[in-house]
Amino acid sequence: MADSDPESAFDMVVIGSGGGPHETNLSGYLLKPHDAEWDAGIIALEAGSGQGALNKLLQLNLNLFESKDEAARTYSASEVYSFVRAFLITHAHLDHISSLVLSAGSLGGERKRVYALKETLKDLEGVFNWRTWPNLASYAEDDENFKLLYSPLVPNGKYHPVLPGISVQIVPINHGTNELGHHISAAFFLRCDSHPSKREFLFFGDVEPDSVTAASPKTINVWRKAAPMIPHALSTIFIECSWPSDRRDDMLHGHLSPEHLRDELVALANEVYFSRSGSNAGSSQRPQRKRQKRNPPSIDQLQGILTGFRVYIIHCKDQSTPQNDVPIKEVILGQVRSLIEEAGLGAEILSADQGMYITI
Ligand SMILES: [Zn+2]
Ligand SMILES: [Zn+2]
Repeated sequence: MADSDPESAFDMVVIGSGGGPHETNLSGYLLKPHDAEWDAGIIALEAGSGQGALNKLLQLNLNLFESKDEAARTYSASEVYSFVRAFLITHAHLDHISSLVLSAGSLGGERKRVYALKETLKDLEGVFNWRTWPNLASYAEDDENFKLLYSPLVPNGKYHPVLPGISVQIVPINHGTNELGHHISAAFFLRCDSHPSKREFLFFGDVEPDSVTAASPKTINVWRKAAPMIPHALSTIFIECSWPSDRRDDMLHGHLSPEHLRDELVALANEVYFSRSGSNAGSSQRPQRKRQKRNPPSIDQLQGILTGFRVYIIHCKDQSTPQNDVPIKEVILGQVRSLIEEAGLGAEILSADQGMYITI
């Protein structure tokens, strides 16, 4: 596929990027190191849409996963999924796991790990319970009868290898409050270990703005980890914006709107400013201690601070009545773009569309 950047670290194909209710376009992204072939191992980042959606995509473009060797062979959807070595799941809502569940009994290839927070794996156990679905997953490393291997990721600030050449760090985030309490989702830092500058990208699961969960903010933890790596090691982020502008806070249901996404990116920009101007400059390993004493930068000081940073908008919720026939995703994208332009941060706002081949 087209690739102008010889420095690329990852190849990604967007199997689905919507936030429902259309079941044909739910969160699902396939990922590999840029310099490896697809049949050498794939990470499935989320598993809302899967083989059914890929089947449709291959009818439009059979060469989406073409191998680069001389045989230049193409693959069917089930072959592509047989190459998956690991699923990375941000949380167990159905729009993020439904294809994992539906395909679990027929997945080809090696046994597959399911990486997630332990709370999320617990939720999956409640689906693979012989009633909602046969139990096809276990925690036992040498249990070949079970196609899926539950593999908890501990949010301890460390990177865990999930595929040769790719490691991941998980960070818990908030995804709204319900009768059971705070619902936990996750963000992943995905690092290409073989890349000369160990390039990373950041992928958010569904997330509530910190301003709404003021008592226990969590996205700030992600921004503090990300900031010292921007823009050299980290210049790409995938983050949701489920709703269009002017959605009331009590109607967010654990998601972002354009104004909240702008505020979150300003919070990131603040952290980038601190990491560049702080006493720990040049030593990004040292924890920042005197956070409470730092004065936030002025709007002028943030101008262009995220230049070169690409923000892919995902998980827009389909509306039954599109505004003037413009797809809601386009509406949201335009709203985010003008807010970020107004704030002058310099970040590039893009959308990750179903069927896209993205190099990172
Ligand atoms: Zn969700
Ligand atoms: Zn979702």
